[in-house]
Amino acid sequence: MLAGNISDRSLKYNMENTEKEAMATNPKTHLDAETDYDLVRLFCRLASTQSPSLFEANVARYIKEELRRIGVKTYSDKSSKYTKSNTGNIVAVVGKGKPVLLFVAHMDTVEDGKKQIKPIIKRGVIKSDGSTIVGSDDKSGITAMVGALSRLKGRKDIPRSIFVFSTAEESGDNGMGISYLKLKEAVDFAFSVDGSDKPGTFIKKALGFGEFNIKIRGRAAHAASKPEKGANAIKAAGIIIAKLNIGKFKNGSSLSIAKISGGGTTSAVVPDGAELNGVVRGFNVSDMRGIRKHIMRVVSQACIVTGCKYKISFSEKNSAVPFDKPDEKIVALAKLATESAGLRFNLKDLYSPSEVNALYGMGYNALGMCRGGRNAHSVKEYVEVKEIYETAKLLTYIITMARNIR
Ligand SMILES: [Zn+2]
Repeated sequence: MLAGNISDRSLKYNMENTEKEAMATNPKTHLDAETDYDLVRLFCRLASTQSPSLFEANVARYIKEELRRIGVKTYSDKSSKYTKSNTGNIVAVVGKGKPVLLFVAHMDTVEDGKKQIKPIIKRGVIKSDGSTIVGSDDKSGITAMVGALSRLKGRKDIPRSIFVFSTAEESGDNGMGISYLKLKEAVDFAFSVDGSDKPGTFIKKALGFGEFNIKIRGRAAHAASKPEKGANAIKAAGIIIAKLNIGKFKNGSSLSIAKISGGGTTSAVVPDGAELNGVVRGFNVSDMRGIRKHIMRVVSQACIVTGCKYKISFSEKNSAVPFDKPDEKIVALAKLATESAGLRFNLKDLYSPSEVNALYGMGYNALGMCRGGRNAHSVKEYVEVKEIYETAKLLTYIITMARNIR
């Protein structure tokens, strides 16, 4: 059962339970102190609306409805033509003038949508019933963005701020919905509102990764009477594995071999075929290039020694970034807003793919912005109510303080 088929009845049941639970805890703590807007109710509604990658339409519809209620116009872009999702990215634009800000949170989750997600609130923490994720990745990001829009409602003094609710982040790699976003204006500062860490923690770059495949072609010969006439592909594969620097390097990049296969037609012949599959990960383009060169060198030498032929193919799944340090101005803005909001500023790298690299790929100055939550992609996932409100607050500070950065 996919997202479109979740029964309304089960959703109603969930919402009633969730609301009752929220009321029983402490109704006051669940309302935005500034607007009386209930972000917890919104989060739970979004979480119980299943949205596996490429089936984000139900969540998209709900976000559009909610923003219409607040008085914010939205449109759906044309990215579904390329991603094949059942919706485009949802875009809302508020404010006027420079600098132009972009905020992105993804609508899809890792679950396949077969099991209904039932958010439960207990002592200020939202989690699932233990059989599914709760979808804080990235529905707490979406909730905080809607919360920020509700706080900024009617303000005429804020710079142009583009809010994008994107598709296919979890499945897409380089095909993420955000990669197909077309904007008319140049963006000065872009934030991917995603990342399971305390609000105030920003991600300066995420790990890029690419897969590779090595095909080794040897020569069959009788293994007992004329082995010297053969070229042993398994021996070449063995040398390659022994010589490759498999593991993690000091700069955070890594090389792994994930699969090996091969052999000859019978045990009587020298094996003439072998294949290796692996992954290269790295934080920037030159680190990844360095590892690729190392692989080519090792494979070529092993094949010279054994008399085999080879073919290597690399495919990039999530682009690495072309630099070592992010733009100083966006870091200054993140720090100023975080400290003004009374939170602790922290800057780190992320060891998994993220939309932040896609934003760099689009030519923007970008940072990932953590939105709370822990244990993403697992049934132990949870998010603190406090973190959702802190993220919403931080977003409003980034927007209202952006003009202080020159
Ligand atoms: Zn995410």
